[in-house]
This record gives sequence, C-alpha cells and structure tokens, in this order.
Amino acid sequence: MSSEFDLIAKYFTRATPDAALGVGDDCALLAPSPGMQLAVSSDMLLEGRHFSPQDSPAGIGHKSLAVNLSDLAAMGATPRWATLSIALPEVDDAWLTAFARGFFRMADLHGIELVGGDTTRGALTISITVIGEIPPGLALRRDGAQAGDDIWVSGVLGSAAMALAYRQGRLFMEQIDAARVLPALYLPMPRVELGIALRGIAHSAIDISDGLLGDLGHILARSQVGARLEFASLPTLPVVHGYLHEAVARDCVLAGGDDYELCFTAPPTKRDRVLDAANDAGISVTRIGQITAEAGLIVIGSDDQPLSIEHTGYDHFAA
Ligand code: ADP
Ligand code: MG
Repeated sequence: MSSEFDLIAKYFTRATPDAALGVGDDCALLAPSPGMQLAVSSDMLLEGRHFSPQDSPAGIGHKSLAVNLSDLAAMGATPRWATLSIALPEVDDAWLTAFARGFFRMADLHGIELVGGDTTRGALTISITVIGEIPPGLALRRDGAQAGDDIWVSGVLGSAAMALAYRQGRLFMEQIDAARVLPALYLPMPRVELGIALRGIAHSAIDISDGLLGDLGHILARSQVGARLEFASLPTLPVVHGYLHEAVARDCVLAGGDDYELCFTAPPTKRDRVLDAANDAGISVTRIGQITAEAGLIVIGSDDQPLSIEHTGYDHFAA
C-alpha cells in the first residue's frame, strides 16, 4: 500500500450514482430531492470506549454506520449519503477489508452512499456523518410529545446491556442464551423503515442509545411534559429475567445502553396506524405508558407502586 490515496481508492471508493460528485475531489456535490429537507447527524466511535480491540472489524463497520443510521431513523428521515473519517494505527489489509465489508453491507441495506471523508494515522477512531431527507414539517422531533400521548418502543430492551456484561465476564450465560443477546450488541439494526412509516403519525421520537429512561427523559425535557410507564409492559427477551436478579434486570431494561430501538409517542386515536406502520416495517412495537401533563417520570411496578429508580446500571453486575 503506497499511500493514503491508494487506501481510500481501494477500500472506500465505490460508485455513487445518487451523488453529483463522490469521493476524490475537495468536496462531494449533493442535490437533495426537490422540496425535501436535509437531516444531518454525526456519531464518533472510539476504541476502548465504544468497541474493544478484539471486536470483529466487520462488526465495527456495521455498528459504526448503524448507530448513525439510528439517528436518521429517530427523525423519520430517508438515508441518502454518508462521510467516513477514520484514524488508523496502521494499514492492516485484512482489518480494512472486513471493516469495509461490514460498513458497505449496512450501507447497501439502507441505500446510503459513501461520498467522502478523511483518513489519517492515529488511535483507532471512526467518525461518521449521515445525511438523510425528509419532507418539511414531518420530522419526528423530541419536542413534539403531548399530554395523553401513548409511549411506544420498538423491538426489545436490555439485550445489549446483558450481552456486554456477558462479554466482560460479569455475567454467566449458557452459550445458546448468549447467542440470543449478542447480536443486539454487535449487530444492531437501525429502525429506519419504522421511522419513515411513523411520519405524520408519531408526535415525537428518539433512538435509545443510552437507556430508555435517559433517552425518554430527553423527549420529556424538550416537550415539557412527564411520563408514566408500566414496568411489566416493557418488552424484553425472556433470557433477561431468566438470568438476572430482579433489580439488575430492571437496570438493564430501564437504563442499559446500546439498544438502538425507537421510543416514540403518538395519540391514542392513532394506535391502529402505529401498528400498521410497524407491521409494514416488519418490526414489533409495544405500548409502555403515557405522556402526562405533570413533569416527572414515574415507573409503576407490579404492585402498582412507583419503583425507586437507580441509574447505576452496569455496576450492579460487579461481583
Ligand atoms: P483533502 O486533503 O482535500 O481533505 P483528502 O486527501 O483528505 O482530501 O481526501 C481525498 C478524497 O478522498 C476526498 O474526496 C475525501 O472526501 C475522500 N476520503 C478521504 N478519506 C475517506 C474515507 N475514509 N472514506 C471515504 N472517502 C474518503
Ligand atoms: Mg482530508
């Protein structure tokens, strides 16, 4: 490999028919579809913080684009383009080939084109910017929740937190059960189709990257409302409760990170439309509570009493 430019040409340059100009010039040139707004978001992943040196490079490629696409999903935007800035400690052909394979597989799933970026030597760091499109006025913002809205989540919660505890040796699981939760951590699937299908139906949305309570809290703060959740209604895989002490399972489900599911609110009159949208998108959704006019977030336990919530999360696994 003779230079940075050969590296970019070999691993990160592909045809970009949806861009007026892609990789190779000082800038990419992009034309949004007529009448559409652009939705732009960036996420950075650092070795040691967001992934570990032993993780599969294809998985790192998948996840680094997936977590960015999750932000477009949470806005209801259609993915169009991405840029990739990457710092590499060395040029490792096998690593780069696998990373690019994971990245472009995720890109192809959602019709997104890599149109530029930056490449430099340094501690492994991946910074991606994604650009999507949405008709003006239809974005699923954090500030649109209204008192009386149902609160919904897609998929299941807590699997990624459990997989992380297993991987870090803090939690024992049978292999067959570990195999059920590990994909949530290493191969998250951004809920792009669901976000698009919820345009005009949901009042607000966010993707759950830092735990349900924290992320729902952002909707509540921006919308100046409160929420009441039923703990028993939160969707989980059965293994979550099978392996974990009740208080730890509660933390995984309420505060575990890396779920990349959507949390959104919609009026009760639109329940059927929410279910139809989820069905069209091929993803389950579950109603977990209501938005309240009073501020504050209350989680009701099985005894009809509010749970006292601790945000200590992962530390509970420590022996
Ligand atoms: P400049 O010096 O003008 O910043 P670079 O030499 O950094 O340009 O990059 C050359 C071209 O390659 C640019 O079009 C840039 O967007 C693209 N590029 C650089 N790194 C990447 C990458 N990791 N993935 C995709 N495109 C990249
Ligand atoms: Mg550059």
